Amino acid sequence: MALIVDVFEARSDNYGYLAHDTATGRTVAIDAPEAGAIRTALLHRGWTLTDIFITHHHLDHVEALAELKAEFVTRVAGPRAESDKIDGLDILLEAGDTIALGETIFDIYAAPGHTLGHIVFSDKVGGHLFTGDALFSLGVGRMFEGTPGPMWEGVKALRALPDATLIYCGHEYTASNAAFALSIDPDNAALRQRAAEVTELRKAGRFTIPALLGTEKQANPFLRADDPGLASHYGLQGAAPAEVFAAIRKGKDNF
Ligand code: ZN
Ligand code: FE
Repeated sequence: MALIVDVFEARSDNYGYLAHDTATGRTVAIDAPEAGAIRTALLHRGWTLTDIFITHHHLDHVEALAELKAEFVTRVAGPRAESDKIDGLDILLEAGDTIALGETIFDIYAAPGHTLGHIVFSDKVGGHLFTGDALFSLGVGRMFEGTPGPMWEGVKALRALPDATLIYCGHEYTASNAAFALSIDPDNAALRQRAAEVTELRKAGRFTIPALLGTEKQANPFLRADDPGLASHYGLQGAAPAEVFAAIRKGKDNF
């Protein structure tokens, strides 16, 4: 049995996700960006919402939570460290926990930085990784709450997952992430190839998500903060990877 993932647009540039455990029919919305978009996706698939998993407290990820919970009487799980900022959580999760959706087991990773309590959901068996705003294709979320050291450690732990892992992130930011990445790492063949693919996908009106973790390991500068080439781009030869990560994050902020 397996997990089927439905990807759809929500709000202006969010992605909504439904994940469906085929063995039991349980269906989770990963984050709750917009009730209408989630309802339409459910109708289209013929699925009934049983669960909502929240990655972090930002409004564009939780706004539809109360409405969906009332309509479908779902179980809602989310980050323990942000439970004071998110109304309606039934199950509180932190790094090292697991949560089941029928026969599918998700491992919880901490990915602090964008928000301090941000969590990520990993279905290791199926190779699906729901990253919210912690990790994007060719980028990471803005560092609103955290500091570079823990943020780097968080994404480094995700980098250790298998190459075949599919990344489902919270936003379609890939094209602008690609432009920045190319500006600091122009000779990276894997990056150039991914950037070209992204240009084609967007031209055709298609999603760049899910992204393949194996490609991201080679192309996403934030997953390569321990690469000597990126360190020297910032004049940081020999510096700690967290310092290079901070320089890349700052570079993107000002790009
Ligand atoms: Zn966010
Ligand atoms: Fe967001």
